[in-house]
Amino acid sequence: MDFLSTPDAEGFFGSYGGSFLPAPIQKEIDKITEMYLKLREDASFWTEINSIRKHYQGRPTPLYYCNRLSKAYQAHIYLKREDLNHTGAHKLNHCMAEALLAKKMGKNKLIAETGAGQHGVALATAAAYFGLSCEIHMGEVDIQKEKPNVDRMIVLGAKVIPATHGLKTLKEAVDNAFEAYLKDPEKSIYCIGSVVGPHPFPMMVRDFQAIVGQEVHDQYLQMLGKLPDHIVACVGGGSNAIGMFSAFLDERVELHGVEPAGKGIHLDGQHAATLTKGKRGMIHGFKCYNLEDEKGEPLAVHSIASGLDYPGVGPEHCMLKDSGRVDYVSVTDEECIQAFYELSQLEGIIPALESAHALAYAKTLGTLDAGANILVNLSGRGDKDLEYVLKNFPAHEYYLEEQESNPI
Ligand SMILES: *Cc1c(COP(=O)(O)O)cnc(C)c1O
Repeated sequence: MDFLSTPDAEGFFGSYGGSFLPAPIQKEIDKITEMYLKLREDASFWTEINSIRKHYQGRPTPLYYCNRLSKAYQAHIYLKREDLNHTGAHKLNHCMAEALLAKKMGKNKLIAETGAGQHGVALATAAAYFGLSCEIHMGEVDIQKEKPNVDRMIVLGAKVIPATHGLKTLKEAVDNAFEAYLKDPEKSIYCIGSVVGPHPFPMMVRDFQAIVGQEVHDQYLQMLGKLPDHIVACVGGGSNAIGMFSAFLDERVELHGVEPAGKGIHLDGQHAATLTKGKRGMIHGFKCYNLEDEKGEPLAVHSIASGLDYPGVGPEHCMLKDSGRVDYVSVTDEECIQAFYELSQLEGIIPALESAHALAYAKTLGTLDAGANILVNLSGRGDKDLEYVLKNFPAHEYYLEEQESNPI
């Protein structure tokens, strides 16, 4: 496996990233870094991961050409089908590897926070596979909202622990998960769910997600004999996007990261477009762009896609924004819902609301660069979102008119 040259030894991507933690936690995190750097050079570690990916996760995931959606969007739309991973999203790519690392370190418990429950479900799955115990911290408010995922975690054998202080959502769940980890750092590990948090997580999760870009680089060349003009991926913390982009950073392909504009990027608290609207700052022990108020407190964020509403973002994306290598844009809730119904009704594929943000931007690209070849990372499937969508954006308002057959 080829590794990118970033980050530096302290975990910096340019001026972003690093690790800013109290000394006792830092000592434990350093052990994780040390172990990972060793395993990274160990071929048998990757052989085991690749075997899990093939026989358990269902990799390689397909590359698919959208016949009907391409006509509607006036461009050739290709999907990398990460929704076909076991458990329905790209998250298992890093959860299985984090769990294997934990096992190699002699740990017996995985701890994490979860917002909508997607990371919790993926980690509970990995824990069941490796025979580790699993403790997921989740805000009481989110537990009420995300019952199907809470049920999945419980059936998988994980302990779901409610966070009952403050706003009872994601931030409080992070507080509690950290506390639980500090009580037993010898035998447990805190598994971060994206390319965020202190070093080594942004590097490690990127390496584990790089399989997405590596696979599709070859698949695309095989299918078309050349690379796409554009690649589009949604950005929450940034793991599916960086996994996709990492194989194309040195190629002549335009890369687009799509953030949630929610109800509009001009309305504070109503979006989560961190790279588009944020300032340089610090959150959860690392440096990145942040959505924060004058006092430096994290701002409230909103997106209909709960996997995207985080007020920070991966440090590597911050570096790629400043260098101009990746174009970061945003898509509103309404544009996302349109794309959600369009892919469902034109291709028979129901996307996660997160992934529908990337599709919505592919539609915009079709108007800017008609006839272009556009590859979209379809990070997950939308089953988890059906109840919410049908209640708030009823299907009868979105039935598509008979499509004109546009030659493209
Ligand atoms: C969690 C999630 C995301 C957002 O996370 P990234 O780290 O930005 O990839 C995107 N899509 C799906 C389907 C998710 O579950």
